[in-house]
Amino acid sequence: MDRIAELTHQFSLIESSIRDAEVAADRASGSVHLLAVSKTKPASDVEVLARLGQKRFGENYVQEAVDKIHALSNFDIEWHYIGHIQSNKTKIIATEFDWVHTVDREKIASRLNEARTGEPLNILIQVNVDLAETKSGVAPDNLKQLAEAIWALPNLRLRGLMSIPDPVSDDDLKRAHQKLKSLFDELKGCHPTPEIFDTLSMGMTNDLELAVIEGSTMVRIGTALFGARPPKDTV
Ligand SMILES: *Cc1c(COP(=O)(O)O)cnc(C)c1O
Repeated sequence: MDRIAELTHQFSLIESSIRDAEVAADRASGSVHLLAVSKTKPASDVEVLARLGQKRFGENYVQEAVDKIHALSNFDIEWHYIGHIQSNKTKIIATEFDWVHTVDREKIASRLNEARTGEPLNILIQVNVDLAETKSGVAPDNLKQLAEAIWALPNLRLRGLMSIPDPVSDDDLKRAHQKLKSLFDELKGCHPTPEIFDTLSMGMTNDLELAVIEGSTMVRIGTALFGARPPKDTV
């Protein structure tokens, strides 16, 4: 199969998995968005999916992403930064992207705020739900304080939460998803404009269905759409 046929096929499989998961979870059709995670894949792959109507793309590596963003500027694409944020990259991230999923520190939030002009930058706070030591993400106990700091920043718009749980058993994943959903509901309850706090970014190739059952509104899918990546780029 050529690459276009292959991507078209995989895209339609994922779209139907999402619709099936919505039905299984008794969720409204269209309530879960697909974020196509295109890290390490060429701009030509992104273009194929964009032509099929896919709008949201996620990238982890700043320079690689910026090259694709510029190459595909004629397409109506919403770019999401989902990688780790180094403070020396905040300016370029705030300039080039529409969303950032991985904010976990006030310092990073305020640097993004300073660098952003025009429309506010859409922000998700990354939460370390399973308190894994090696991973980024704010601890659940410090979440509210970080959210309050972001609410005060005029060029950021806090849209929701995100997590990357460790690849563990389904039971542990389910607990991690439930935890993030309950933190989300709690924070929505005290959000100054709760209607814009509408995004729960959880679920990847291996736990799409589980995440939709537990309330995800955005699944981040790489492997199932584009195929495997080199081992060091698994996440
Ligand atoms: C790479 C990556 C994904 C996609 O993972 P797959 O298992 O390939 O679907 C999702 N979220 C983040 C944060 C990633 O870095």
